[in-house]
Amino acid sequence: MRTIPPFWFETRPWVGGEWRSSSDAFDVTEPATGRTIATVGRADAALAGAACDSAAAAFHGWSRSSAADRGLVLTRTAALLTARRDEVARLITAEQGKPYAHAAAEVDYAASFFQWFGEEARRVKGRIVPHPQADREFFVERRPAGVAGLVTPWNFPLAQAAKKIAAALAAGCTAVWKPAEATPLVALGLVPLLLEAGLPGAVLQVVPGRGSEVGAVLAAHPAVRVLSLTGSTETGRSLMAAAAAGIKRVSLELGGNAPFIVLPDADTAFVAEQLLRLKLFVSGQVCVTANRVFVPAALEDRLVTELADRLMAARVGDGMADGVDAGPLIHARACADVGGRVAAAVADGAEIVCANRSYEADERLHGGSFFPPSLVRGVGDTMRLAREEIFGPVIALSRYDRVGDAVARANATPAGLAGYVYGTDLAACRAVASALEVGIVGVNEWRPLKAEIPFGGVKESGIGAEGGEEGIAEFLDTRVVSMPRPPLPA
Ligand code: NAD
Repeated sequence: MRTIPPFWFETRPWVGGEWRSSSDAFDVTEPATGRTIATVGRADAALAGAACDSAAAAFHGWSRSSAADRGLVLTRTAALLTARRDEVARLITAEQGKPYAHAAAEVDYAASFFQWFGEEARRVKGRIVPHPQADREFFVERRPAGVAGLVTPWNFPLAQAAKKIAAALAAGCTAVWKPAEATPLVALGLVPLLLEAGLPGAVLQVVPGRGSEVGAVLAAHPAVRVLSLTGSTETGRSLMAAAAAGIKRVSLELGGNAPFIVLPDADTAFVAEQLLRLKLFVSGQVCVTANRVFVPAALEDRLVTELADRLMAARVGDGMADGVDAGPLIHARACADVGGRVAAAVADGAEIVCANRSYEADERLHGGSFFPPSLVRGVGDTMRLAREEIFGPVIALSRYDRVGDAVARANATPAGLAGYVYGTDLAACRAVASALEVGIVGVNEWRPLKAEIPFGGVKESGIGAEGGEEGIAEFLDTRVVSMPRPPLPA
């Protein structure tokens, strides 16, 4: 059994290049067992304000550093994360609960964003545009926007932040990062790695604190020009409203309700294997996970059997152990939320085909926040299980008769983050993928997200994108200088 690594960082806010004291603190618990593993100093509004001031003071120097130097800090950070994958992954498993293998994959995924934006830093280019007057020309410049306020959730405590931090720093912005309260440890753990990579201490501040309190400070501080949030649609709405007063740019990665469409010619064994991996990944607490699975009536019984066999064979337990496929949910409240959605569906006529409670055999986990991975069939479009983000390891199957109906039902939601299409005829897959109102579609692929591509939702799932060439643009302003063309000296 793996253990929590010794902490290589202090468990208090990092502001202005120093670990700072705070009058308040909160406990961090291990979701697998429910025990407290750390107490972290909480940043209040005053310290969050000081963090914004310090990021503003550091902006002058960092924004004028060379793009190559900024890029080097980021690519070195990627290398350090890779070198220290094991201890960082154990820390993620401890505070987030996901299986070690998923945590190690998250470290690699986070490193890929530091690597990508480290390389992109040197590719931020302006252009010279012809002026209508022959004796003038336009310089179109792309400049760092200012201080970036970054707010992240607990499901990928390192990777969601890496997408934002790497892009902001590559652009030349300084930043104030508020990690989720459930997962502040890996956030604080990133600080020494960034410093070792050469980041000046006051370029990034880490302020563990309450969302509404720190969010309000970030939204109000004049130096903060970009607010980048990954979180629920509700939080996005409130941060966007707060940002309106200062006309700040928002970049929002919000909740999803992904359709997973199984086409009539799909290979059900392949679908079952992929769908189970997708739904067990971080126990379904993933914005892009399949929320509604649309199955042709003729394939339903076969797919149910294939899924049930695999789901019941999965190992659910402590993420620190070898060979665990799914860990706990983040806290007991999450279990109650998921359980409430399933119970409401059953009351409305859905059927629980099976539920895997293999974690119950381990007494150490009785205080943990586990929810049994479950297969539910007969889910109707009006049920909460279909309308809301499940955010748990529940596979919700809905029958369909015509592909066109499945697509129309898939799009009948305010969310538009991700979608999945599984089938053998690639032309049909492509046509269905093109018809989905989402930001990304995986065709016969359960996890299409990569640093090289822009990822962002449409409709109420968000504004803007992370990754790709687009990710850095979230932190850049455009300025035009109209100049006389200097005459050639005689
Ligand atoms: P959440 O919205 O409750 O919290 C996210 C972060 O926002 C936390 O750090 C929280 O403290 C902070 N916050 C809360 N209220 C705030 C406010 N008023 N102002 C500023 N910040 C505030 O979300 P969560 O429960 O941590 O994460 C789950 C949600 O995140 C799900 O809806 C999921 O779909 C979404 N998510 C989206 C993506 C994406 O890329 N689109 C990725 C991961 C998670």
